Amino acid sequence: MAETDKDDLISIIEEDEKDATLPETLPLMSVRDIVIFNDMLLPLFVGREKSVRAVEEAVAKNGYLFLATQKDPDIENPEQDQIFSVGTVSRILRMLKLPDGSVKALVQGIAKARIVKYVSKRSLYRVKIEIIKEEPVKEIDLEIEALMRNVREHSEKILDLRGEMTSDVGTILESIDDPGKLADLVASNLRLKIDESQILLELIDPVERLKKVNDLLSREVELSSMQVKIQSDVRDEISKSQRDYFLREQVRAIHRELGEADDKAHEIEDYKKKIKSAKMSKEADKEALKQLKRLEQMHPDSAEASVVRTYLDWLVDLPWSKSTKDIFDIKRAKKVLNKDHFALDKVKDRILEYLSVRKFNPMMKGPILCFMGPPGVGKTSLGQAIAHAMKRKFVRISLGGIRDEAEIRGHRRTYIGSMPGRILHGLKQSGANNPVFMMDEIDKLGSDFRGDPSSALLEALDPEQNSAFSDHYLNLPFDLSKVMFILTANLTDTIPSALLDRMEVISLTGYTEEEKTMIAQRHLIPRQIRENGLKAKTMPITPGALLQIITEYTSEAGLRNLEREIGALCRKVARKIAEGDKGPFRITKNNLHKYLGVPKYFPEMDQESSQVGLSTGLAWTQVGGEVLYVEASLIGGKGELIITGQLGDVMQESARAALSYARANLASLGVKENIFENMDVHIHVPAGAIPKDGPSAGIAMATALISALTNKPVNKDVAMTGEITLRGRVLPVGGLKEKALGALRAGISTIIIPEKNRRDLAEIPSNVKRKISFVPVKNMDRVLSLAINL
Ligand code: ADP
Repeated sequence: MAETDKDDLISIIEEDEKDATLPETLPLMSVRDIVIFNDMLLPLFVGREKSVRAVEEAVAKNGYLFLATQKDPDIENPEQDQIFSVGTVSRILRMLKLPDGSVKALVQGIAKARIVKYVSKRSLYRVKIEIIKEEPVKEIDLEIEALMRNVREHSEKILDLRGEMTSDVGTILESIDDPGKLADLVASNLRLKIDESQILLELIDPVERLKKVNDLLSREVELSSMQVKIQSDVRDEISKSQRDYFLREQVRAIHRELGEADDKAHEIEDYKKKIKSAKMSKEADKEALKQLKRLEQMHPDSAEASVVRTYLDWLVDLPWSKSTKDIFDIKRAKKVLNKDHFALDKVKDRILEYLSVRKFNPMMKGPILCFMGPPGVGKTSLGQAIAHAMKRKFVRISLGGIRDEAEIRGHRRTYIGSMPGRILHGLKQSGANNPVFMMDEIDKLGSDFRGDPSSALLEALDPEQNSAFSDHYLNLPFDLSKVMFILTANLTDTIPSALLDRMEVISLTGYTEEEKTMIAQRHLIPRQIRENGLKAKTMPITPGALLQIITEYTSEAGLRNLEREIGALCRKVARKIAEGDKGPFRITKNNLHKYLGVPKYFPEMDQESSQVGLSTGLAWTQVGGEVLYVEASLIGGKGELIITGQLGDVMQESARAALSYARANLASLGVKENIFENMDVHIHVPAGAIPKDGPSAGIAMATALISALTNKPVNKDVAMTGEITLRGRVLPVGGLKEKALGALRAGISTIIIPEKNRRDLAEIPSNVKRKISFVPVKNMDRVLSLAINL
């Protein structure tokens, strides 16, 4: 096998190598892909067996070898007729045997020859040759000279086009002045097809050969320049397509811009319409258009634009002039209130009065209503009923735990992600500027370094100033004067006084068992049955079972848990039906536990027996009235007072007053005068983790203390409420009804109350009075005689 390394194909011509006495018979090596010309120097890689033997034989003899090209390069072992008969006698200049048996040889063409005869064909071809003598060109005429110049120039051009031109090559080309040699040199470097090269080789006349080479060169020049052109065209094509792509991208971007411009115009137009139909206040309208103009000048994708957009959205969505038409039909209102709510007559009356006044004076700047009472007594549902009666929208927000003014009044727009406050949120949500706006838990409003939410709230609520309420985000006055605000609170103690001043507090107290039974039967049970997709017939609840739910499954002033338990009952029944049980499911005292589990409260068992140092007070808390046990005990010490159970300042003072009263009356109580010399007094009020305050446990603390001092038990069925003075007078307290209901739930039969609270007994439902006896007292002596039997 022969391969060429074209870089080595520049022949170095040495005249003295011409040897006239070449052997007649030579080993033949057929080569593929290349035709060897005289003087051509080329490395051969010899792999085929026959070829290796030919080389070996040549080396063994005189180094001469006959190289002839095979007609078809793909044939591994060419026959003699598959090998061109004209070839070149070559001399092996160097040879290297490789470990795999192949041979690497450097050969040089010496003389053109023709095969006369194949002498041997077996292990290697041996041929008899006849040297083809070339007639030297006698005279180099103009034509030949021109031809040669042409060939040189073309050669340089081709090499140039191929990027292979060096100054050395130019010098070599210039130095050859023999037409035949020039033809051979150029031909061997032209990358011609085998057939074309062979034709050239067989052309004996040097001038003819040069002409032929010249022809081929012209074609080659054309081909090469064509190739270069094609390549540059391709390059152009690529860069053109890149350019096209780039341009197209630009066009697309322009289109997008244009498209966006369309969108933008559309958006602006849209906002214009919305601003118009929002019928804002003059100021707001002006501001909206100003912002719209800014938006128009902004890049639609900028962060700033989205801020402006959010602001505009708020402006156009707020109900500037959208309001619902009020209905001041007092009869209808009464009906609505009665339909949803049992009892609460006083509250309903007050609401109807309020509505009547509004009817005649719509611009009335009346007080703000505040419903006060424990959870679940119907504050929210009353608010909803009012909205329903007036055909107004209803919104409700909770103020519990708000400490930040911005929650009410919004953040300034300079903050990222700033928003209006809850009031405007509520209004937007209601879609009208005159909803019934309920704010829950006004008593749980906090205040700290982030500003005082109550002052912002005051601005919103105060009828004198709320026609121009300013939200920081909006930064425009918004008229809240048509809104009907209703506040709710569990207790009024913690409401900021500035707010409390402007409110009309309507108290809703807890319900008695009887009231709860009625409400459950009329409202809660039918509603829960309906909501759970059941029918009243399928699950009759006996009065006994209902009472048991009220007393043993709930212990609360309101109705929330009761409604929840009834809901749970309904769900259990619904599940049974879904599982294929047909019912009806009669809920009785006996089977109630199957539905609701074991009872959670056992009121009578709170205090099983009368004990020394343990009295029962009554507290008025967020969740209504509750019994409050006071423990007192004497321990070794030096007459100090220890108070535990998270008592507030007022309650601690109350405890001190109780102790002073006891110390002052030791003799009349029959206690040793020097008892405090080596005794400390410890007063504890469980549950220890819940903060408690207020003066109303004064007499209960004194009673527990005196019980401990005298070692006489306090009657467990007696509860008491009242403030104590140092001289033992009993002063009035608040929340009597709540406390009474709490006591009832705890199974108390007697309540000692201050004489001055006697008038409050009128408010206590008669059925409660039937179950509990209220004993008004003026001083501590009476308390002690009732509770400790002193
Ligand atoms: P609050 O707002 O005071 O915590 P809710 O208004 O949420 O209480 O009342 C709890 C549930 O008790 C509601 O389903 C409500 O309809 C019902 N409810 C409260 N009071 C009455 C009443 N007097 N008559 C009928 N249902 C009532």
